[in-house]
Amino acid sequence: MFDLPKSVVLEDESLRDGLQIEKAQLSVEEIIQFIKGMEAAGVRRIQVGSFVHPKWVPQMANTDQVFQELERRPDVIYTALVLNQKGLERAIKCNVSHLSVSISASETHSQKNTNRSLAESLVQIREMVLGSVAAGITTRAGIQSAFGCAYEGAISVDVVCDIARLYDSLGAHEINLADTAGLGNPRSIFDLVTGVRAVISPGIKLSLHLHDTRGLGLANMVAGLQAGVSNFDTSLGGLGGCPFIPKAAGNIATEDAVYALQEMGVETGIGWRKLADLAIKLEERLGHPLPGRLAHLPRAA
Ligand code: ZN
Repeated sequence: MFDLPKSVVLEDESLRDGLQIEKAQLSVEEIIQFIKGMEAAGVRRIQVGSFVHPKWVPQMANTDQVFQELERRPDVIYTALVLNQKGLERAIKCNVSHLSVSISASETHSQKNTNRSLAESLVQIREMVLGSVAAGITTRAGIQSAFGCAYEGAISVDVVCDIARLYDSLGAHEINLADTAGLGNPRSIFDLVTGVRAVISPGIKLSLHLHDTRGLGLANMVAGLQAGVSNFDTSLGGLGGCPFIPKAAGNIATEDAVYALQEMGVETGIGWRKLADLAIKLEERLGHPLPGRLAHLPRAA
């Protein structure tokens, strides 16, 4: 039987995962306008930015200011990424109620991305999850390159499950499995989700972050649905990539995911047409086309 959840929550990550690889620097006002546009379309989970050092990711330098100036709606979750203690302190100062932390399951990706070994990352992430949970923040702990690594290829299921168990034991509220390199396929998504689900507490949420580098993003989302996942990361227009993985594509486009879910009878609360218009605005601002499909279809279609 083709079992699907009744409803799905999408977290749009275009303003963080997407913008961090762009040359253009959006102003605080522009970022807030895009957030408002997404809210108007029905998006209820938005990753606003990241509290990282502006020297490494200058596009995210205004995240503190965005949080300070943004009028936060009670029905919307505004989240951000933090990578270290300093970032966590900044997030707490900005009253952020929902945070993402993450490490890579791949030794090489970890070294390239953070200059830390996997063992060092495990020590550091422990403090991060504990600190975030202790601050009363809903904490999502992520595992990058869970479905394969651009440098190493296959990643051991045991390594991913061990990290998931650690997150669970530290009190994380949600575990995010990320196909950072876009190497997952519907079968590997289904199998890993099922494998991780079996080793963590039933109450902890599982979400998927699916880069569409090889065109399998939406098929992978459907495999995730079949495995019982009802939280997915997406990106307006499919914006994004990874500065440390050459030719990486962005996440599945939010509007395309909404359309696919709607056509399968799964509720998201989001209107894809409004999002498609917003994706076009984003393209215009960034000065290049985005890979999403629905935004480029003629209006009558
Ligand atoms: Zn990503």
